[in-house]
Amino acid sequence: MLCKVAIDLSLDRLFVYEVPGDLQEKLAVGQLLSVPFGHRTARGFVLEVSKNKSGEEVPAAKLKPIAGIVDETPFFSPALLELVRKLAAYTAAPIESLLRAAVPAAVVKPNARPKELLFVAPALAARAVELTRRQEWLYNQIVRLGGGWMSQLCAELDTSPATLKLLGQKGLLQIAPRQKFRTPLVARRAAPTKALALNPEQAAALGAIKAAGRPVLLNGVTGSGKTEVYLQAIAAELERGRGAIVMVPEIALTPQTVQRFAARFGDKVAVLHSAMGDGERYDEWHRIRSGKARVVVGPRSAVFAPVKDLGLIVVDEEHDPSYKQEDNPRYHARDAAVLRGALEGAKVVLGSATPSLESYRNAQTGKYAYAEMRSRAGSGTMPQVRLVDMAGEKQGGIFGEAMLEALRVRLAQGEQAILFLNRRGYSRSVTCADCGRTVDCDRCDMPYTYHRADDCLRCHLCGRWIEVPQKCPHCGGARLDYRGIGTQRAEAALKTIFPQARILRMDADSTSRKDSHDDILSRFRRHEADILIGTQMVAKGLDFPSVTLSGVINADQSLNLPDFRAAERTFQLIAQVAGRAGRAELPGEVIVQTRNPNHPAIRLAATGDYAKFAAGELKEREEGGLPPYAHLSVIHLKSQDRREAEEWAEMYARSLEKNVPGLAVSAAMPAAVERADGWYRYQIVLTGHSVAAMVAARRRLLAVRPPPRALKVGIDIDAHNFV
Ligand code: ADP
Ligand code: ZN
Repeated sequence: MLCKVAIDLSLDRLFVYEVPGDLQEKLAVGQLLSVPFGHRTARGFVLEVSKNKSGEEVPAAKLKPIAGIVDETPFFSPALLELVRKLAAYTAAPIESLLRAAVPAAVVKPNARPKELLFVAPALAARAVELTRRQEWLYNQIVRLGGGWMSQLCAELDTSPATLKLLGQKGLLQIAPRQKFRTPLVARRAAPTKALALNPEQAAALGAIKAAGRPVLLNGVTGSGKTEVYLQAIAAELERGRGAIVMVPEIALTPQTVQRFAARFGDKVAVLHSAMGDGERYDEWHRIRSGKARVVVGPRSAVFAPVKDLGLIVVDEEHDPSYKQEDNPRYHARDAAVLRGALEGAKVVLGSATPSLESYRNAQTGKYAYAEMRSRAGSGTMPQVRLVDMAGEKQGGIFGEAMLEALRVRLAQGEQAILFLNRRGYSRSVTCADCGRTVDCDRCDMPYTYHRADDCLRCHLCGRWIEVPQKCPHCGGARLDYRGIGTQRAEAALKTIFPQARILRMDADSTSRKDSHDDILSRFRRHEADILIGTQMVAKGLDFPSVTLSGVINADQSLNLPDFRAAERTFQLIAQVAGRAGRAELPGEVIVQTRNPNHPAIRLAATGDYAKFAAGELKEREEGGLPPYAHLSVIHLKSQDRREAEEWAEMYARSLEKNVPGLAVSAAMPAAVERADGWYRYQIVLTGHSVAAMVAARRRLLAVRPPPRALKVGIDIDAHNFV
């Protein structure tokens, strides 16, 4: 018997091993094995087993036998393996890279093991033995408690392990290691909740999910009660004995959503969290595979969770860019969810207040079913959105008069405000007043961003930082201007204008510690601050009843990105920020500062008219031959040598143009940021109807003209990021 094993070496090939007689009975596809590899032992997953040796290209004599089966329970069911295979083919990534994305490293690595602690229990048939009064008291206490963890009992009963072990030797107690599940912070006990009586829109949505037989796009405004619909759809699956996966964009930012699932389903919920320790991750994953946990909440990688009898996958905020992984394997978790649903016969719900145009289009063509919820479910009403044209305000001003007045009113009334600005740091760039040039990162074509907290310039692309120069590096001029506005500068300005206000800032710089998101959000919830200012972290799913004002400081930032989805993103951001205000009894107000008040993305986001925005935007996409009417992928080339990158990009572009019918091939061009971390980056954009043709075209290209070692060539299928 032979088997093919994927070993995590990024070699994009499988290795064939012999299966010794005693392991043949036990071996199954999807198991984790240990195998000899060179002079060491490696771990890998069995992907194929073949019963006879004939037809194998490798002579059997050379094959080594596998060393052992690490875990007899497969890590991948046949359906999950099929998902991984299909995604590998679709994204043109090695299958090992998908296997790695699918299983947490904490579960696979050689020293991964459950945490075992000593557990003390009263012995079943205790003998009558002589005891001191103290020992007798201890024994009675333990009987009363029914046992407990050694360390806890010692603390609680003020005794030592040695004393309890002595009682163990006397036959009164049983002391043995037992697995202790490490429960992640985000799943801390929440007060249990019961299903709410659904309003008619919610009931219709739930009905559509139960009946659909195809993925359902649930387009519901913020606060329309989508989460309650998910909860009840999951409850129905649990009743049928089936499990569920709930995907959320970024778990650290959505602790409240996680809490709501934990509150409804208690112990049945497992959480997979990017900031979780290895131990917690190991335990949660095993609780899922063993079937103890039936509902998994997690970010994009949760789409691979080994849930048995999967009945439902929910993709919450399905439009969120974080579902697309931006390094290899560059899969899209929403698409993966739809694929997994089809493979396992599970229902799929994609929910959003601002659906991606891809999903919306799929609903229009009937590939997805569609449900809409247009009003807020609880006590809240949709807030008024005011566009403030900043053209009338002085250049470089951060807050217009309308925003300041609104803040003043909230502060006076003791209510809270959330302000959004999509750039961290203090000022965007440092510009010389004499020569007009910016101070740029040495290794990237990017201006440095000034950070006041540590008084340095930092590159947001490669992370490098330098001290603030006294003179312009280009002309030696001494007059350096700080241009553009980051969250730190906006915070400082607010402090000057409202010295009495308590302000919290949330961005990548203020949240580098493990639980800092949670800290900031808890403090804001306890009303220990009046204003929360931050990057897109503050735009996601937060629900604070006493927030009555939310504001976008500069809506034009995302509009000006070199990305055909810039308008779509801007619409989504404004709608999400607007959704933060007026969630409870207090009515909400939203202020959006912009210099483009007539741009459709901004105007229609203000009136909350998704359908109209989508119709206009889809028309433009169709005319331009862009997604969702075609696939758009990017071939990336990078080299430390600019000429090499450029010449090869041009040569590849010419060759693609000639040889691939059905694909539109762009000219070779430098990436929007040409140099990043010392690498010169070029790209070729492919548009067309067949992803397979794109993958094949790149493969053929590399086979015919293999790139030099120093040139890296990748492909990003259905690309979402153009910087
Ligand atoms: P969404 O997920 O669409 O943003 P939520 O599910 O968070 O909306 O619901 C918004 C608020 O409305 C929550 O406070 C929720 O408890 C409440 N809510 C949802 N459904 C109902 C219902 N059927 N009856 C009463 N309140 C509801
Ligand atoms: Zn840099």
